[in-house]
Formats: sequence, C-alpha cells, structure tokens
Amino acid sequence: MAAASTGRLAPSPTGHLHLGHARSFLLAWWHARSRAGRIVLRLEDLDVERVKPGSIEDTRADLEWLGLDWDGELWLQSEHAAAFDEAVASLLARGLAYACVCTRKEIAQAQSAPHESVALAEKSRYPGTCRGRYASLEDARRASGRDPAVRLLVEPGVLELHDEFAGPFSVDVAAQTGDFPIARRAGAVAYQLAVVIDDARQGVSEVVRGDDLLPSAARQYLVQRALGLPHPRWWHVPLVTDAQGVRLAKRTDALSLAQLRARGVDPRALIAWVARCSGMDAREPASARELLPHFDMRKLPRDPVRIDAGALVELGG
Ligand code: GLU
Repeated sequence: MAAASTGRLAPSPTGHLHLGHARSFLLAWWHARSRAGRIVLRLEDLDVERVKPGSIEDTRADLEWLGLDWDGELWLQSEHAAAFDEAVASLLARGLAYACVCTRKEIAQAQSAPHESVALAEKSRYPGTCRGRYASLEDARRASGRDPAVRLLVEPGVLELHDEFAGPFSVDVAAQTGDFPIARRAGAVAYQLAVVIDDARQGVSEVVRGDDLLPSAARQYLVQRALGLPHPRWWHVPLVTDAQGVRLAKRTDALSLAQLRARGVDPRALIAWVARCSGMDAREPASARELLPHFDMRKLPRDPVRIDAGALVELGG
C-alpha cells in the first residue's frame, strides 16, 4: 500500500491569524483528511524579534476553535535548530553555498543608478559580490571583521516546475533573486532553508498554502535539490482580500480569528462561509469534519476571495 500523504499547517506566531489563514488552513486540512492523509502542525517561530507573546497559545486556540486537529506533537521550529546548522555546514563544505558579508545597504547601492530602467525584480537580485571570495565562514569573518550570512549558490537557467493548483510555471531564480540567503548573520537560519528541512523532517509530502508563497517555491526546490531532499507536491491557493482587493494582513484585527471568537461568531458559520467560497455546497453552518465529503480541490475558484461587509453580516460578526 502506498504511504499515506502528509500535509501540514505552518503558521508563524507573529500576530493574530485572520480569515485568510482560516481559509488556507481549512483547505490544507480538508485536502489531507478527505483522503485519510496525515496532517502535522508546525509553528514557525524562528524570527524571534517578530514572535508576539501569547501568539503560540492564540494560534493553537484558533485552530481548535476551527475544529482542526493534527497528528503528533506540535512542532516548534525553534527547537530544531541543530538540523539547520548541519545543513548549512554541509552545503558550505560541498561548495554549494558561500559566506556573504554584504550589508543590505551595499547590495542596494550596487544595484541603484545608473540602472534606473532595470526592472524592480532585477533590482532585488543579489549581484554575487561575495561569490568565490572567502574560503570559509571563518575566513570571511577574519577578512571583513563582519559576521557573515550564508547564500545558496544558484546556477543560471530557468526551472520548469509544477503546481497542482496553479499549473506549470517557470522561474529563473538566478536572474530574479540570484544567490539567496539560507542563514543570516549570527547563524540565524533563513525561512527558505528552515521550511525545507522541517518539511522533510516532518515527512511532509503535500503543501497547501497561500499563493503569496508561490515565488518562494522555486527557491525551496533548489534547497531541496542541493540537500538531496524530496520535493513535496504544492497547491498554492488564492488568498482572501479585503473589499478593495488588498490581501488581508496580520494587522487587520477586525478580521482576526481572535476578534471573531470574542464577538461570539459561530465557527460553524465561518467554516460554511469558507466552504461556499471554496466551491463547496454548504448552505447551513457546519463543522470542518462534517464538510469533509463535500471537499474537492478541483472546484476551488481560481480568483482571490473578497471579503466585504455582506460576508461579515453573513458570519453574524
Ligand atoms: N509560516 C509561513 C506563514 O505563516 C508559511 C510558510 C509555508 O507555508 O511554507 O506565512
């Protein structure tokens, strides 16, 4: 029998979860559970300066309020730092990554005038200043007097990739991003590396998440390839926006799950609303589990979901 697929919920505890998160998490959960797959929970708490006190507990409470369960213990990313250090060391040792001492300001200066006409994407590309410059982290530290970051070496060329929802897409990471950080100064691991290693360690084979992360997928693919890790299948799903079409941010408190909970919104009404805007037939309030048989990723609308005053009235909020 084929091994069961494993999906994941991977919130960052950096503020209140909102309706957009609720939709992405419900879709990931429905996707996994409707096919009797596993689903794990990981809290991406590495960016210590952005982690808000109480957010871990709040996130857990939000997920429980939505009636979502997960397999195994909650995985706190910050507790698994040794695996990130090992991966960085191995990539450095194999010449697939290198020490970089450039500051943001220096990178910006290297790209500003006289290239006024250069496209924005190109402007944020790392020009490769430190590539081949230092033999090791130690060497970089000694020679520059700075604490180095580490970048993955990106070979030129276009990657042809596939997203199960968005379809085929091609990305030229070398042209768009260039060599990108896998570790920041003082050994702090970068998101692109942490997410890849933790997905592999948690056995994640299917990733359902917001399509704001589609541009990251190609970088994650390259990290997986460099480390010899399997590539999960991706479904990058459209986001929820406000009435003006702007994607919800963690500071949009009015639509935070904590606020909706506090206002006495029935989670079953919210879940049915999410289901309806995800192509499901869900006229009555219902739990996530009750709606499992109605879930079909192929029916998911291709456009972002706009939340307006009418939707809030519908939720009773
Ligand atoms: N923790 C990230 C976020 O909340 C998601 C990372 C991922 O799904 O790969 O935006």
